Amino acid sequence: MTNPNALISDAQSAIAMAITTAVNTSSIFPSTYNINIPLFSRNSKFPMSIENAKNSNGWVTVDAMRASSPTRSSSSSEDEDTDEKKAWIGKHPSALGEFEEIMSAAKMKQVVIFLDYDGTLSPIVENPDQAYMAPEMREAVKNVAKYFPTAIVSGRCRAKVYNFVRLSELYYAGSHGMDIKGPSSRKHKKGNQNVLCQPAKEFLPMMTEVNEILQEKIKGITGANVENNKFCLSVHYRCVEEESWSDLADRVKSVLKDYPKLRLSQGRKVLEIRPTIKWDKGKAIEFLLESLGYANSKDVLPIYIGDDRTDEDAFRVLRNRGQGFGILVSKIPKATDAIYSLQKPLEVMYFLQRLVTWKRSILRSH
Ligand SMILES: [Mg+2]
Repeated sequence: MTNPNALISDAQSAIAMAITTAVNTSSIFPSTYNINIPLFSRNSKFPMSIENAKNSNGWVTVDAMRASSPTRSSSSSEDEDTDEKKAWIGKHPSALGEFEEIMSAAKMKQVVIFLDYDGTLSPIVENPDQAYMAPEMREAVKNVAKYFPTAIVSGRCRAKVYNFVRLSELYYAGSHGMDIKGPSSRKHKKGNQNVLCQPAKEFLPMMTEVNEILQEKIKGITGANVENNKFCLSVHYRCVEEESWSDLADRVKSVLKDYPKLRLSQGRKVLEIRPTIKWDKGKAIEFLLESLGYANSKDVLPIYIGDDRTDEDAFRVLRNRGQGFGILVSKIPKATDAIYSLQKPLEVMYFLQRLVTWKRSILRSH
């Protein structure tokens, strides 16, 4: 791990850069950072892209909402080994089954671990406020962080995801990577000295305002709720009857038409509202790797584990770097830029435990 003071110093310049980014996004980042949001079409299980966020506020349809997450009634087929699933696993093998191969690439390299939270470390639950992680999972993450720099990269606000994980030795990238903070030092520091990067800081008043408007706007749609994730807002519809989804999407879109600097994307039974800055989970892991001193290093092996479309940005970064591995957590075949797969959070825990065992055996042999 690098000196945290160096990280903070790096962060300050990055914050300045990132704020500029918010004002003038197109001139700073190369086109490879354009955000492509995968959608599921009616006729395909595989995603298509929309060009950019600004034009995307109108795309949310009930079909897309329905396809965003398997319904409970169809989930029984998730465990079936269909030919399609076998073919998919052939393309994206189990990270547990291929563990030795993965680790053979890690020799003499610093492994860095990036973990999504919901659906990766915790099960997807009806009430997002109750997405607790199992004590065994916390222990596995804690042990991993003893040996490898470890970051949680989540759509949730950083404070909320920290309250779920409660491990001060980790890096946290909340709000889809728009709010990054390094491990807490032993000595308590005042203010935001540990904040490494908040590229959407100038959007905070707007997000607060839109949150209040949306909270009012969705009243009357039973089961809908808006989660304020600081630099992004999540409109959950997991508990909304399907016949109200169209109404909900229309209400959200009607609010956003007055905010062209915000865009709408979709996760698992959730509509996400974010600033139109070119920043995502992929940018967050690039920032973290750079902060750790591995911007152009060949001696690093980043591993990113996630289950959602927003994680694809991170998988794509690793694929483009030709470095490390994305691991998609999914029971159903999905188009993905991840190399490997795991079926569920329990397998993520097994994978993390094996990483620790692997590292300890190497340390013992030296
Ligand atoms: Mg997730």
